[in-house]
Amino acid sequence: MNDIVVLRIGHRPERDQRVTTHVGLTSRALGARGMFLSGNDSGVVRSIRDVVERWGGEFFVRDGVSWRQCIREWKETGGCVVHLTMYGESLADHEDELRKMERIMVIVGAEKVPGEIYGLANYNISVTSQPHSEISSLAVFLDRLFQGDELKREFPGGHMKIIPSQNKKTTEEI
Ligand code: SAM
Repeated sequence: MNDIVVLRIGHRPERDQRVTTHVGLTSRALGARGMFLSGNDSGVVRSIRDVVERWGGEFFVRDGVSWRQCIREWKETGGCVVHLTMYGESLADHEDELRKMERIMVIVGAEKVPGEIYGLANYNISVTSQPHSEISSLAVFLDRLFQGDELKREFPGGHMKIIPSQNKKTTEEI
C-alpha cells in the first residue's frame, strides 16, 4: 500500500477539536500512516493516541508542526503533496497516476486555506466541485486511492477488538 500521511492545517482549538480528531481517526481507520497538525492541541493528540493504544496499529500524530517546513521536508525526500480542495482538478481524472506515487502527503484545511498551499502542492484535487468537508473528502480520497483494500486492514497490538455481528455489539479484550 502507498505510504500516506495527512497534514491538517488551519486548526482552531476553540472550534475544530472534534473535526480535527475525526480527521485523524478517519486517516487511521482508512489506511494513512499518521497525521501532522499545524498548531498545538494536546487534547486532539491525546484522543487519537488513546484510540491507537486501545485499538492497535502504528498510527502517529504530531502537533505543533510548521506546515511550510513539513511540506518542504516531505518534498525534499521525494514525497508527493496532494491538497484536497473543491477548487482543484477532479480526483477521477488523477486517481490512476496518484496510485503510482509511493509517498503522498494529503493536505486538508479547516476554514480558509492560505493561497500559497495551492502553489506548493503537486496536485490540487477536488472530490466533486461542491463544498463539503475535510473528513468526507479525505475518506473518499483514501478509499479511491486504496480501491477498497483499506477495508480489510488489520490493526495489530491493540487491547480491543470488535467481533462483527448482525444484531449485537460484541467486543473482545485482547
Ligand atoms: N472555503 C474553504 C476554502 O476556501 O478552503 C473550504 C473549507 S472546508 C470546510 C474544509 C476543507 O475541506 C477544505 O480545506 C478541503 O480540504 C476540504 N474540502 C471541502 N470540500 C471539498 C471538496 N469538494 N473536494 C476536496 N476537498 C474538500
